[in-house]
Amino acid sequence: MQHFREDIRKLEQIAEGRKFTPGKIFRPGKIKKQDRKFVPGEIVRREPTTFKKGNIVRREVSESNSVENWRREWSSLQGTNYGWINQRRIVIFSESTIEQAVINQIKQGVQDLINQLRLNFSITQGIIDITNLIRVHTLPNEKLNLQSLAQSLTTTEQKSLLGYGGIHACVIVLDRVFEGVNVWGMTEFHNGLMQLALPNIRRRDHNFVRNVAKHEAGHLLGYYLHHDDRKVRGYRETNCNMMVSCASYGTCDKCLDAIRYFWLGLQQRTGIRFFR
Ligand SMILES: [Zn+2]
Ligand SMILES: [Zn+2]
Repeated sequence: MQHFREDIRKLEQIAEGRKFTPGKIFRPGKIKKQDRKFVPGEIVRREPTTFKKGNIVRREVSESNSVENWRREWSSLQGTNYGWINQRRIVIFSESTIEQAVINQIKQGVQDLINQLRLNFSITQGIIDITNLIRVHTLPNEKLNLQSLAQSLTTTEQKSLLGYGGIHACVIVLDRVFEGVNVWGMTEFHNGLMQLALPNIRRRDHNFVRNVAKHEAGHLLGYYLHHDDRKVRGYRETNCNMMVSCASYGTCDKCLDAIRYFWLGLQQRTGIRFFR
């Protein structure tokens, strides 16, 4: 519980500070080259995780003692100050080299999670080509300068162009990797931002791209944990899309319940309808 409160406080601080500082939030993985495939995504919280021998080792796994407590925890989470959730729209922008078939997989992954939860969010493809924008924030080594892009996204110009920051959530699909952070995806619920790092070699396995997109959608919809972070008595332990590996497509009942009850709680407090 202690651990849980700290997580929330940190999220609130990040939100209040209005700072998007991935370099601080995300710990660059000390992960061996051959394990890169198994580090698709991260969210705004890394403390309970340590990296050891190329694998992610949990320092502690906290336990909720019942399904009821787990649901109560999630339904009491705050999250009402974040503009994009009022519109319940998610828009995909990509570099021009990303194939339509790949964008379709991403869209499908996000849509499938929305459908499973019966949320009334929509996902569409934006008409703006972000190739030039991304180029400006690309380092000489062809990697994306996250800090620089993040700062640019908060300018008035980009806000009106991409609708970022309160209008809808943005999914940004890159034909390159992030500088300094060895993951496939980085997502922040508070900022309504999902960034996918998909250079050509990562786009070959369409099923896996879809897995990653669904996984990141879980984070975008407020699930700031990974499946393995919490054990809850009463749920059957199965492979789950919210595992760090993103190896499977199915999302387990524990993780689905967390997201579902998070939105139910918000719905109750705000009066906004988030379900179909
Ligand atoms: Zn993740
Ligand atoms: Zn799960």
